[in-house]
Amino acid sequence: MSNVLAIAIDAPLRRLFDYRAPTQVDPDALRPGVRLWVPFGRRRVVGVLVETRDHSELPDSKLKAAHALIDDEPVFDPLLLDLLKWSADYYRHPPGEVIAAALPAPLRAGAALHETSERWTLSAAARTGQLPSLPARANRLLEVADFLRARDGADAAELGGISNRWRDHVRELEKRGWVTRLRVNDPPPPRAEVRTAQGLDPTPEQRHAIDAIVGAHGGFAPFLLHGVTGSGKTEVYLRAIEAVVARGEQALVLVPEIALTPQLVARFAARFDAPLAVLHSSLADQERLRAWRAARSGTAPVVIGTRSAIFAPLSRPGLIVVDEEHDSSYKQQEGFRYSARDLALVRAQRLGVPVVLGSATPSLESLERVRSGKATLLELPNRTAGASQPALHLIDLRKHAETQGIATPTVLAVKRHLDAGGQVLLYLNRRGYAPSLFCPSCGWVAPCPRCDARLTVHQREHRLHCHHCGTEQRVPEHCPNCSEVVKPVGQGTERMEETLARLFPDVPLERIDRDAVRRRGALEEALDRVTRGEVRLLVGTQMLTKGHHFPDVSLVVVLNADQGLFGTDFRASERLAQTIVQVAGRAGRAERPGEVLIQTEYPEHPLLAQLVAGGYDAFASAALEERRQARWPPFARVAVLRAEAARRETPLEFLERAREIAESLATSGVEVLGPAAAPMERRAGHYRAQLLLHAATHSPLQRLFSRWLPAIEELPEARKVRWSLDVDPLELF
Ligand code: ADP
Ligand code: ZN
Ligand code: ZN
Repeated sequence: MSNVLAIAIDAPLRRLFDYRAPTQVDPDALRPGVRLWVPFGRRRVVGVLVETRDHSELPDSKLKAAHALIDDEPVFDPLLLDLLKWSADYYRHPPGEVIAAALPAPLRAGAALHETSERWTLSAAARTGQLPSLPARANRLLEVADFLRARDGADAAELGGISNRWRDHVRELEKRGWVTRLRVNDPPPPRAEVRTAQGLDPTPEQRHAIDAIVGAHGGFAPFLLHGVTGSGKTEVYLRAIEAVVARGEQALVLVPEIALTPQLVARFAARFDAPLAVLHSSLADQERLRAWRAARSGTAPVVIGTRSAIFAPLSRPGLIVVDEEHDSSYKQQEGFRYSARDLALVRAQRLGVPVVLGSATPSLESLERVRSGKATLLELPNRTAGASQPALHLIDLRKHAETQGIATPTVLAVKRHLDAGGQVLLYLNRRGYAPSLFCPSCGWVAPCPRCDARLTVHQREHRLHCHHCGTEQRVPEHCPNCSEVVKPVGQGTERMEETLARLFPDVPLERIDRDAVRRRGALEEALDRVTRGEVRLLVGTQMLTKGHHFPDVSLVVVLNADQGLFGTDFRASERLAQTIVQVAGRAGRAERPGEVLIQTEYPEHPLLAQLVAGGYDAFASAALEERRQARWPPFARVAVLRAEAARRETPLEFLERAREIAESLATSGVEVLGPAAAPMERRAGHYRAQLLLHAATHSPLQRLFSRWLPAIEELPEARKVRWSLDVDPLELF
């Protein structure tokens, strides 16, 4: 037999599904990348044709026919479809879920690929009950009416999800006055020539970087743009993109978190007199679809987005940029665990375009890529005109008296900078008032009932929160053990705000963390107050480290560098060094010279000593050498099989079986370590454990996975746990 359609369906199974072609469809129309309505269990769902085969494993009698073809052209071009297949294979994730991740929700539900000129809605008269009801026997008509009632109109493709005869039913409903036909905007006009606003005159280093990137057009060329914060990396991206746009091509720009960097998007929008397609997770479905279509049709010459934008369709790709390439948000930490940074390299290679990874604190992976000759280093060692690099100083917390987490020399420095008219930024990576609630009399500490963790005190709301599972409780006044009065211990941003207000009562102060800027728009307003100089003191979490440009900040204080100094994870020190250098980079971005104070109880710790003496580069060289000796990535490849369940033994039993299977498959070159319980074993009521797979390169792992995962899926123990495989994990837990 011939023409078996292998279709990806959004379901948690690591396979494609075979169907016969729908009747009355021209076989030539069945090109890979088109969507079809297919029967799946008792439902009618959207699937994407991945390939046609001339043979199915299923007997002919079991092979169902697809219901209908949705698209008259593929939704994904062959290279993008290929990237999606490759990603499903590399990360060992169900292909249907991978493809679904690349489609805006309306397209997953069958909406038209192009903006269509026809839509139907339930008429006003029908909505307000002014029409005689439909005959109860007219099942199909009722179904269509209910479908339209539930949404704000639907197009032909969406109605196709109900049945193949939907046009008859809609026509009948129109006749009875139940349905109104709408015409909406016609397809977008062809793209006019893009004018760009005048940029700054590049410095010689910027010029060199721009020329290298622009000169590489037309072929794959990976670059690492390593420039200290404020060295003008964004200006380099903008110039390189100008050249791409001038050739009529598109640039794809990935950023860590758009909500945190409104300034960056504004700079791009100001530069290009053309619609930007902006893709991020908090868009409404229709906005997202509009941006996706603009990327696909090429009406948007610049596509800027977060992680999942790596799968944005592009009609004339010319360049990929990954800003802040070290940022951990490029790696999805659940479900389809891909790294958009790594896929940017894969995609650029397949497209044959240059790719620029930019950072002030490059990942060790990217630095090693440069050292081994697989990427070209472009350096911007200096800040742009007027600004100099801030000096780093350690404050030994063992030597100096402190008030609620601020040592005396720090207080004096803050005062000095405020008096000189500067702004001061204090960084503390703990939101809430205090990290624990403690009974001084019996030693009780408020625990999370569902995690191996302490509850954080949120004083203003008068509640205890678990930052791991979201559990909330009232703050008890007395110890449940001994009835003595309990008290919050340690520092969170909320308490730091209180302390600063007491120390500097007349200085306007702003706190920036997830709690303080929960409301939509609150972050932008707070950042504006800082930029306008209305705020002199700024305290906050990780949110402050992300690319903001605060021209008047002259002092940055890292209040507690010690969380992370002794982390168990192999990446803990890399992450800490990046955070310290990034937050330090907020100091002295314009004319004011910057100063950075790092409070620690371990001033002799090598990581801090390296950062102070030689900056990020000194740290990175030492850290790479350690990784090489310990055979950790980038000098090896690892993957983690994680499992969790309500009983402590269950995940360990499953992982033990998985390990036995891996050993019986005897894949040479793969080492299996564990199982071991997670450092925080219980989270949200589940016990967690993992198995670590280690190999010199990726291919032995890939060879093992092909035979191992199907066997694991069949294990009876697998049904008792939630398990997942994480390829190239960021953290071991
Ligand atoms: P980065 O992205 O490396 O942090 P930016 O591109 O944001 O750096 O530049 C930092 C500051 O320097 C910005 O205010 C920018 O306008 C300015 N700048 C960048 N390039 C130049 C230049 N060639 N001449 C003058 N100012 C520049
Ligand atoms: Zn007590
Ligand atoms: Zn919890």
